[in-house]
Amino acid sequence: MSKQGNLSIHSENIFPIIKKWLYSDHDIFTRELISNGCDAILKFKKLCDIGEATDTVSEPFKVTVTLNKTNKTLTFSDNGIGMTEEEIEKYITQIAFSGAEDFLAQYKDKMDQDQIIGHFGLGFYSAFMVAEQVVIDTLSYKETKAIKWTCDGGTTYELSEGTRTTRGTSITLFITEESNTFLNFYDLREAIEKYCSFMPVPIYVIDEEKEAEDAAAKAKKIEEAKAKGEELSDEELAPVVPTPINDSQPLYVKNPNDCTDEEYKTFYRDTFHDFNEPLFWIHLNMDYPFRLKGILYFPKLSHELETVEGRIKLYNNQVFVAENIKEVIPEFLLLLKGLIDCPDLPLNVSRSLLQNDGFVKKIADYITKKVADKLIALSKKENDSYKKFWDDIAPFIKYGCLKESKFFDKMKDYLLFKTTDEDYVTLSEYLERVKDTGANTVFYVSDKAAQSQYIKLFKENGLCAVYLEHSIDAPFISHLEYQNKDVKFMRIDSDLSAALKGAEADKSYEEKLSGLFKTILHKDKLKVTVENLKSQDVASMLLISEESRRMQEMMKMYNMQGMNMPL
Ligand code: ADP
Ligand code: MG
Repeated sequence: MSKQGNLSIHSENIFPIIKKWLYSDHDIFTRELISNGCDAILKFKKLCDIGEATDTVSEPFKVTVTLNKTNKTLTFSDNGIGMTEEEIEKYITQIAFSGAEDFLAQYKDKMDQDQIIGHFGLGFYSAFMVAEQVVIDTLSYKETKAIKWTCDGGTTYELSEGTRTTRGTSITLFITEESNTFLNFYDLREAIEKYCSFMPVPIYVIDEEKEAEDAAAKAKKIEEAKAKGEELSDEELAPVVPTPINDSQPLYVKNPNDCTDEEYKTFYRDTFHDFNEPLFWIHLNMDYPFRLKGILYFPKLSHELETVEGRIKLYNNQVFVAENIKEVIPEFLLLLKGLIDCPDLPLNVSRSLLQNDGFVKKIADYITKKVADKLIALSKKENDSYKKFWDDIAPFIKYGCLKESKFFDKMKDYLLFKTTDEDYVTLSEYLERVKDTGANTVFYVSDKAAQSQYIKLFKENGLCAVYLEHSIDAPFISHLEYQNKDVKFMRIDSDLSAALKGAEADKSYEEKLSGLFKTILHKDKLKVTVENLKSQDVASMLLISEESRRMQEMMKMYNMQGMNMPL
């Protein structure tokens, strides 16, 4: 026997779960309520475009967040589509029933679906994470009477006549004691800026009481000036015009061909509050096989590579999602600064986590590929700039090569080495240059000051070495040796290249010096060899073999980290 049935959900049980657990960050309610306002405006605009509604109010579209400290309220107002009583019943009171989805289904042939942010039909309820009571006052574009919905976070609500006289929705939150940080104007503004900096509709944040005080003070000043017969400037007389907190047309959504260098630099400064100019940037813009826009900037890097919080911001349809998401942004790219907007991201309900799937990996691979393509194009088309930037971008590129084999495969022929004669060459160019010496050996300098005598000797004999002085270079050298089995890297003081050897040395010195060094260093098994140097300037020098030095360095590293040497 079989029986079918419907699952039923008791809202009194599910409601506390939504309030407490759905969202990890409490400030998310700002994003949800503002994005609903944006959606409402975009929907109304759409209806006007297709002739299903007319804009009789014709004031600029905007979302305003108003703080009233005395009343302990935050009000989110928009002049969007508004809601009828039925729509409130349907979209608000049916939890997890999304009006956005409904709207898209209704207008799917006439609408570019990506503009609408809403999706899951749960965002509105995030208001109850911070509010003990929520009041919706809304006037639909189809109606003449506003309607009011009041709910105190329990499972009942009240509908009555509203007070709004113009089209749109005002949602008032009576903030709880625990969440009173949101009654602090600066905290509130900060939360809103974090999520809404690039939302597609202008957003204003207003401290109602302060605004009233300022206006009164201004009026008084004008009054006093009049009484004294003083002239006031136009600026002093003009009312304060609020400015939106967001940039509704951020540079990254524009076509790269329409953006100037100056705009890229300004956008960088404004977004990252970094007054050092970026070296260059990559503007990503693709529609297929997934949509992705963004700008990645190459900042000047410091000697110690560190991935700093907040460098790469991820957006979904101009709504901030999170920073430094490792699944989407390959780790080495976190050395860059930038933003990526991908409307196709498979976000979970709270939009703060990604549903990890193959798609996310594809995005990461795409970004890596684009970065490599840009670097290669730079190297080919603007080789002088590429060389000029090399010192600054080398640590980043090398880190990328170590972390991502695909990146290394693309970049391997475009890696440069700065030579002791101040030139930048590729590995093969270097090997070509030193091919007379026979061995496939790259001599390198790890510390210009300490190894200056050796550099001098090299120069004197027409040889050249390359500078590999960054902390990333030791692992990078090992990586290159692993990838190029026939090439050997030797520090400039580790071996006497044949070209540096002078006449046959007097072997009698070997015995004398051998005894001396064995005694001083307390090493019986020490083997000492003596060679003649081909040099006018350098009297003598010590060599230490590459292998034993690397071994010592490794031991030092293990000791430093308090680890045991592997046997
Ligand atoms: P979603 O945005 O994912 O659809 P929400 O819980 O955020 O879910 O909102 C539910 C629905 O309520 C929306 O889809 C929309 O139909 C309606 N709604 C919410 N806020 C507004 C608003 N400010 N103006 C008009 N309709 C709104
Ligand atoms: Mg929503």
